[in-house]
Amino acid sequence: MSDCLFCEIVAGDIPATKVHETGTTFAFRDINPQAKVHVLVVPKTHHEDAAELAAADPRLLADVIAAGAAVAKAEGMDGSGFRFVLNTGEDAGRTVFHAHLHVLGGEPLGTFGRPTG
Ligand code: 5GP
Ligand code: ZN
Repeated sequence: MSDCLFCEIVAGDIPATKVHETGTTFAFRDINPQAKVHVLVVPKTHHEDAAELAAADPRLLADVIAAGAAVAKAEGMDGSGFRFVLNTGEDAGRTVFHAHLHVLGGEPLGTFGRPTG
């Protein structure tokens, strides 16, 4: 899709630090990491958010989750633990409207879900 940041990253038109790739998914480091390890896993095709992806193509959502688990293992976090996050909408502070799985870890993570400020 034109005018979509993550479609442009998947296409290689905008540079990103790739950490993992499958036939259907692409994973790269977040530009503003919220943990020692912070990787984003996206489906290569454009979907608005996780719920839309689940409805349109549940196997592709499963591919994204499996790729996230492979990233966690490759980053050495399968023993220590990690967090998957799928933000949706304004209250979650969503900024990019191409479905993406955050994979966070590499250190003990703080609490989450509380209001900021
Ligand atoms: P959201 O808030 O929509 O769930 O997450 C979007 C994520 O994309 C944020 O964590 C943000 O740091 C990351 N991000 C935004 N622009 C870029 C970029 O150009 N490159 C990379 N690698 N990450 C980005
Ligand atoms: Zn897109």
